[in-house]
Amino acid sequence: MNPIYAQLGTTIFTTMSGLAVELGAVNLGQGFPETDGFPEVRTEAARAVVHDSNQYAPMKGTAALREAVAGFYGRTQGVCLDPAREVLVTSGATEAIAAALFALISPGDEVIVFEPMYDAYAPLIERAGGVVVRIRLSPPDWRFTEAQLSAAFSPRTRAVLLTTPNNPTTRLISPEDWALLARFCVSHEAYVISDEVWEQVIFDGVRHVGVLNLPELAGLGVKIGSAGKIFALTGWKVGFVCASEALVAQIAKAHQFLTFATPPMLQTAVAFGLNLPSARFAEAVAGLQRSRDLLQAGLAAEGFRTLSSEGTYFLNIDLKATGIDLGGADFALRAVREAGVATIPLEAFCTPDGPPLPVVRLCFAKSDETLYRGIEALKKARRLFV
Ligand code: GLN
Repeated sequence: MNPIYAQLGTTIFTTMSGLAVELGAVNLGQGFPETDGFPEVRTEAARAVVHDSNQYAPMKGTAALREAVAGFYGRTQGVCLDPAREVLVTSGATEAIAAALFALISPGDEVIVFEPMYDAYAPLIERAGGVVVRIRLSPPDWRFTEAQLSAAFSPRTRAVLLTTPNNPTTRLISPEDWALLARFCVSHEAYVISDEVWEQVIFDGVRHVGVLNLPELAGLGVKIGSAGKIFALTGWKVGFVCASEALVAQIAKAHQFLTFATPPMLQTAVAFGLNLPSARFAEAVAGLQRSRDLLQAGLAAEGFRTLSSEGTYFLNIDLKATGIDLGGADFALRAVREAGVATIPLEAFCTPDGPPLPVVRLCFAKSDETLYRGIEALKKARRLFV
């Protein structure tokens, strides 16, 4: 069997959700909203499944969705895309990342990543024959430095794979840090595969800066988005790749032999959703910001120290600063068993040989009632472990 997968465990998200169900714990682990997202988008999908074609969609995505994606990013991020040539629809962002890696890197190429990172990245890079080069970031600001970039880039660097806003750190790459990174990428002709699935979940009025906002990265940048995150419908698995014509053409060749095409009724509904008025999106993010604030305030009142949450569905607890002398993985296992609350340790997003990272991630895309139950359970955990 292929050793990359033979040595891998089951993803932490599946493991923790399984434990939460088995033990009847409050699930603040795996990142998914408790209630389904945009009802008008779901209604449109239901209409399309009954009244429209259910046969294969075009390989690169329906014209309506590609136009809607280009229009949406034009309006919301000032990015100018040719829908016919610079947009590709995939079956979720994870497929988009896989297709981009398979299409752009060759065996022996180095791919730079920033830890903590989403757990799918390293196995996908390795399965594509690439070599993972890790830059380890530290709380509370999780920023990379010029010295770290200098040490990581080499003549074999083919790509950088990053996430902004970041899961699990919740941080956004600032315009200055983008400019620094772009300088290295341009001089090494390295692609930037930029996982921007959380681009619509940013709080406190901060603006998203993505890879396509950097003119110097033209021809190197690959932006990846996700309808699941935009509409709080994580089960849909509809993603987008936006890049230059040459890169989209190449990535489409990998996509055609991964999933080929994405369910047409979901594409129709996502196109409809992306054309909704901007106030509708503002309302969705305001609801999430309220939930973030509720959880943050509730935990602070119980003596927890949290790290700032700039975006995503997540808030991180700094266990050490809270006075809990446990690693994240130990805390997560004990908290789900002894206090009835599922969390995700940030260690799951890092190589095991790195420095300790006593931080756990909580998902606040939940009802107030679930959040209050979560706070109660965490209070119990704190009493047990401090
Ligand atoms: N993106 C989700 C999270 O970070 C999990 C997705 C999954 O379970 N594969 O929790």
